[in-house]
This record gives sequence, structure tokens and C-alpha cells, in this order.
Amino acid sequence: MNAYVTEPARHTPVLGEWEVVVLGGGPSGLAAATAAARAGRSTLLVEKSGYLGGAGTGGGLSTFCGMYSNVHGEHVLTVRGHATELLERIDRLGGLRAPHLSFSDRIQAQAYDIPAYRSAADDQVLAAGAQLLYHAFAVGAVVEGSTVDGVVVESKSGRGILRGQVFIDCSGDGDLLAWTGTSHHKADPHGEMLFPSTMFRINAVDGERAGPAWKTLPRMMDEAVAAGRPRFPRRGAIVRPQRDDLEWRANATQLRNADGSAVDGTDVWQLTHGEVQGRTQAQEVFGFIRENVPGFERAYIVDIGPEIGIRETRRLLGKYVLTEEDVRSCARFEDSIGLNGWPVEAHVDGDLDIRWPYGEDPLGYNELPYRMLVPESGPANLLVAGRCASMTHGGQSAARVAGPCFAMGQAAGTAAHLALEKHGVVAEVDTALLRVHLESEGACLSLL
Ligand SMILES: Cc1cc2nc3c(=O)[nH]c(=O)nc-3n(C[C@H](O)[C@H](O)[C@H](O)COP(=O)(O)OP(=O)(O)OC[C@H]3O[C@@H](n4cnc5c(N)ncnc54)[C@H](O)[C@@H]3O)c2cc1C
Repeated sequence: MNAYVTEPARHTPVLGEWEVVVLGGGPSGLAAATAAARAGRSTLLVEKSGYLGGAGTGGGLSTFCGMYSNVHGEHVLTVRGHATELLERIDRLGGLRAPHLSFSDRIQAQAYDIPAYRSAADDQVLAAGAQLLYHAFAVGAVVEGSTVDGVVVESKSGRGILRGQVFIDCSGDGDLLAWTGTSHHKADPHGEMLFPSTMFRINAVDGERAGPAWKTLPRMMDEAVAAGRPRFPRRGAIVRPQRDDLEWRANATQLRNADGSAVDGTDVWQLTHGEVQGRTQAQEVFGFIRENVPGFERAYIVDIGPEIGIRETRRLLGKYVLTEEDVRSCARFEDSIGLNGWPVEAHVDGDLDIRWPYGEDPLGYNELPYRMLVPESGPANLLVAGRCASMTHGGQSAARVAGPCFAMGQAAGTAAHLALEKHGVVAEVDTALLRVHLESEGACLSLL
């Protein structure tokens, strides 16, 4: 078999041109598109699925983390602006539960209803004036000299080019980084890359009988293994009620290849293996819960995440690389564009390792500098936001959750607007002006 086939050259139609083109409709992408459109820029948001929310909907997550920080013992909403407007929209659809305490009651998270998130996100992005393109899988980029000129998409309508003046990579996997030769790093799946998981939700739980089962279940699982049961895919299962106590969400699986390495979200064969393995693991863990946890006797799996949840693949090498030390020492930056209060949540081989900010009474959050959205080298008109922004493995293990991704997205969309006044050069954005714009749209850049 030949390793390669040369395809015939072809004329690819240009499907349109926008000032700002955002790739990926997760929390970072939907926030970026909202911000750029609200600033008055013609904006396109391109998404391979038929809905927004990214892993938060397509991966079945159903909980917002990183919206709150534990500031000297007080739980403070530290991601605000377009994200809080989105939460209000979800709430108006009846899809939001009051925040709950997580990880030994040290930090707040908030459960939501996935269909409500999808509907609210449609409304928010369209009300801002952005255009949506669903079912369009980006497969390449057109680069002219030092600028990106277009994104190549494949869809039921065929192949096409989406032209733009500023591009924002919110694909999670940094697909545009790879295609445009932008400086980036891909984690090593033998140790460095966070392990993915398949999420699932359980219905018909008797909430009263279940009580705070999220506290007892991890211990029950450990005891069962100590008593001779085969090991679970991972320790530290996170199982919580959703909007209603009838429905619970389980984050309890861990996807690995035969050689023990983490499933790599940029490898289609590994993704295929991971989907099958994830569903098998979900059924196995659920079987244990139903048989052993009071209140779950009549329960059933109502949904397994449509796609496996990928936590980490490519990361930008940007003008600044956010580190675990920055997260744990609550670092501050002059060009702060938002806050992260989530601890390091490391999904390591077979386990979950949480690492908190240093000290007895920490500030409880770190600032996120604009420079982590700006490539160190690569096209001048490309920004990157979300889990593929410029962070080390340890930094990303914290700031990859929804809250900071919303903040990065809003900042990237606003910065794209400002860059258009500088011929699209994102490194020339005046960060003081960016911060003024962000604060005028409700963003929280510092509490001090
Ligand atoms: C199993 C798991 C559980 C998690 N639990 C939580 C949790 O409880 N709470 C929390 O806040 N965070 C959680 N996270 C973290 C979560 O990854 C982030 O919150 C967040 O979704 C990352 O946002 P993003 O916008 O960077 O990327 P993503 O959410 O990954 O969104 C990227 C989007 O880009 C699209 N896309 C990608 N490539 C292309 C392409 N080539 N063409 C077109 N579209 C493309 C995807 O379809 C997707 O919609 C979890 C992650 C995982 C994997």
C-alpha cells in the first residue's frame, strides 16, 4: 500500500469574509464571538457540532468550574461579564442549580442543564450579532506571508474557505496553531498529558436516600478495591446531583491506550478506541453505584457524553506561559484580562491530584495575562483562547476549566476588535485600553 496519494489541485470556493473568525464554540469561542460582535465587528463562529458549549455540552460536563474563587475563605464570583449574562440566560430557562461546594468543600462549582446551556448559548451569540456556522469541520488554513487569510472547512456543502482579518483559535486542540505553523507544544501522553474521561448522567435517583453520596462514594470504591474487587478506571470519582436531585452526574472514568498512555485527542484511532472504552467504563462504574449506593436502586444512565472529554493536547507557546507556580502563588499581572480561582486538578494515571494555592489563607486566584493569548511566533493576526492558550501542563491543569475559558474568550474577542485598528496585529493591542473595554463589559480583572 502506498503511504500517500497526491490529490488533484482544485478551486475551492470562498464562502464569505468576516472581520473576525472564531474557530470552536466552547466557552472560550462563544465568549470570543460574543465580544467581537458586540464591539461591532462582523464575526463568524465556526463549530463542527450542531450546538455550542464545547466539552461543556458535547462532552456532557454539566458543571461550571472556575467561576468562583475562594478568596481568604470567602466564595467570590470572579468570572463576570458575558459569562454571567450567559448563566442568567440559562437560569431563565430553569437550567441552573445554586452553586455547591466541591473538593473537600474548598471551592464552589455550579451544575447546569445541558439543553438549557445549548439554547442560551445560541441566543447569546446571535443576540450579540455574530453569525454561526455549524456542522463545519475546519481542516486547514490559508496563510499568506505572516497572516492567516482563511480557514478551510469541510461540510455537507463541500469544501470551502472562510476568509477573515483576525482569527481566534478556540478549538481546544489548537488546530489552527498546528496548521499555521504557530509556536506550540503538545503534551507527551506518556506522563505529561492529562487523561481524558467519558462523562455520564444518572436519572431516577432517590435524592433523600442518596444524601451526600458524593462524599462517601470515593471511599466505598477504594474499600471495594481493597477487599479484592478489580481496580476502577481511576480513583477520586466526582459524582454530584444536577439541577434536580433526581439526576446525578458522574466524572469517574479514565481513558488510556493499551500501553497505558493517555488517549490523545488529536489521533482519530485513539479517539475511536476512547469512545468505546469510555462507554464500557461508564456502564461498569454505574453498575457498582447502583448495587452499592442507597438511593440508586432504580436509577439508570440517562446519557453518556456524546463525545469523550479531552482535557489537554496542544498548547500555544505564547508571549507568556502561565505556570502551575503562577496558579499556586496567586500571581498578578499588569496585563490581566481575567481571573482563575480553580486549583490544579491533575487527572494523572489512575488518580486525581488536587493542588491548592500555597499558604494558610491564600488570595485564592491568579490573574490571566493577555500575553498568554498571543503567539510568540506565527501569524500576526492570530489569537488563542481556552484550554489551548499558552500554559504549562500544570498551569493548564487549573485554568482549563469553563470560568477562565470564558474570561480568556471575552478578552480575545475584545482584543481582536482592537487589533483591527492596528492592521490586525494582535501583539500591538494596547493592553491598558483592552482592560478598559473589558471592565466596561463587566469583566473582573482584579479584586485588589
Ligand atoms: C471529562 C472532562 C470533565 C471536565 N469537567 C469540567 C467541569 O466539570 N467543569 C468545568 O468548568 N470544566 C470541566 N472540564 C474542562 C473543560 O475542558 C473546559 O471547561 C472547557 O470546555 C474548555 O473550553 P474551550 O473553549 O477551550 O474548548 P472546548 O470546550 O474543548 O471547545 C472546543 C470547541 O471547538 C470545536 N472544534 C474543535 N476542533 C474543531 C475543528 N477543527 N473544526 C470545527 N470545530 C472544532 C469543538 O467541537 C468544541 O465545540 C472538563 C473537561 C473534561 C475533558
